[in-house]
Amino acid sequence: MAYDFDLFVIGAGSGGVRAARFAAGFGAKVAVAESRYLGGTCVNVGCVPKKLLVYGAHVADELEQAAGFGWTLEEGHFDWGTLIANKNREIERLNGIYRNLLVNSGVTLLQGHARITGANQVEVDGQRFSAEHILIATGGWPQVPDIPGKELAITSNEAFYLKDLPRRVLVVGGGYIAVEFAGIFQGLGADTTLLYRGDLFLRGFDGSVRTHLKEELEKRGLNLQFNADIQRIDKLDDGSLKATLKDGRELVADCVFYATGRRPMLDNLGLENTGVELDARGYIRVDEQYQTTAPSILAIGDVIGRVQLTPVALAEGMAVARRLFKPEQYRPVDYQNIPTAVFSQPPIGTVGLTEEQALEAGHKVQIFESRFRAMKLTLTDIQEKTLMKLVVDAETDRVLGCHMVGPDAGEIIQGLGIALKAGATKQQFDETIGVHPTAAEEFVTMRTVTR
Ligand code: FAD
Ligand code: NDP
Repeated sequence: MAYDFDLFVIGAGSGGVRAARFAAGFGAKVAVAESRYLGGTCVNVGCVPKKLLVYGAHVADELEQAAGFGWTLEEGHFDWGTLIANKNREIERLNGIYRNLLVNSGVTLLQGHARITGANQVEVDGQRFSAEHILIATGGWPQVPDIPGKELAITSNEAFYLKDLPRRVLVVGGGYIAVEFAGIFQGLGADTTLLYRGDLFLRGFDGSVRTHLKEELEKRGLNLQFNADIQRIDKLDDGSLKATLKDGRELVADCVFYATGRRPMLDNLGLENTGVELDARGYIRVDEQYQTTAPSILAIGDVIGRVQLTPVALAEGMAVARRLFKPEQYRPVDYQNIPTAVFSQPPIGTVGLTEEQALEAGHKVQIFESRFRAMKLTLTDIQEKTLMKLVVDAETDRVLGCHMVGPDAGEIIQGLGIALKAGATKQQFDETIGVHPTAAEEFVTMRTVTR
């Protein structure tokens, strides 16, 4: 049977664009439908604008450090409107680049909401298309708990377009987005409180990292409230917001920002017309080759709820393109040792097993841990400490995990990700010559077992 397309991709985000471009490059006839913005979450309301705001907030650190290096600066003034306008211009430039990437690869770009109407049928704003394979790459969407007044709160989607920097912000959540945005708001001058429902934020990260970041954020004056959860939000007469906590406390702010996780974006996708099943958490169920329970339909990225990171969506998109149209080049995605960064201030970089995971997996571990004041701060009064930690298998000497909290942690951890993928041992770390003077050299000079 002749179809309009070999592959119809729903969603031009990180995973969808990668799959579409490479499939077209392998000679397939490909269409992509996008309802909102080219480049998806990462480019428009995720990684990219977030990192630009993090850079903006980080300028405050540089200004604070300047005096130690002999610089006398006039009283600084920050303008949120300028930062957001410049950020928006950059995002528009990237949207254009994504358009060119797709069109120049020969992909048919359809602007509009796509709905699956049958095993091989997709409808985009009333227009019908047939395809041999359909790839769902529709990403995720912020999820706010159902409390009275939830409509008064914002999420990351809105935060990127606020007209003014709020004077007082309550950030709710203890994951990547909460910690990153708390740093952005506070760095740019807002009086910021982070509320997390558990004992300590960043569940799943290494224990030393979580404790160290908590201490450093408190040193910076961020108000961290653990075991704190909002019961309701009310608007006061002066326009500010009152959050009543479950323990009865009342906090007043100008903005309540929720970062309590993301749900798969399945709205009006037409899954009821297919045999696609969801897993227990509500994400699309796929096998190891991203095949859903409907033979002609695949799914990748945040919508399958495995690892919600752009490089993972890219790798999955690549794997699908190869599997369908270049099987001789197919390689499964390796979900082990995925390096990742939390762009808090200071940032976290991490790859491999945490100490807790290593112990749980039955490893006998040696821990190497170092805390030090970065050289750059020695001419300043700033007392921030950097943390570096190695989790080593005591029997095989293999390095199981590398963790860092400190400047440039994301940049440093990328290289260590390669070392872990290659199966490096602690002895090979020790035999690697350091780059001096850097903070990164500490990873190859830690000799004394901490525990
Ligand atoms: P998306 O990029 O979300 O793309 C899905 C696309 O599908 C969207 O453009 C959407 O409009 C479109 N769509 C949905 N439904 C339809 C439909 N029915 N018809 C047509 N189009 C549709 N990851 C990192 O690795 N590093 C970071 O620093 C980082 N920072 C982040 C910061 C924030 C605030 C957020 C929210 C996320 C961040 N992420 C980061 C995660 C990253 O953005 C996602 O993992 C990644 O974008 C997932 O890609 P995807 O292709 O699955 O979906
Ligand atoms: P996360 O899943 O990382 O964190 C959600 C947080 O909200 C957790 O602390 C969770 O607590 C808490 N929470 C969940 N439900 C509730 C509730 N009902 N009430 C109160 N608190 C609640 O989600 P994010 O929204 O921060 O980010 C989504 C994903 O996007 C991340 O997991 C990550 O994969 C990706 N991302 C990556 C970034 C990067 O690479 N730098 C940056 C930003 C996002 P608990 O732990 O107790 O369950």
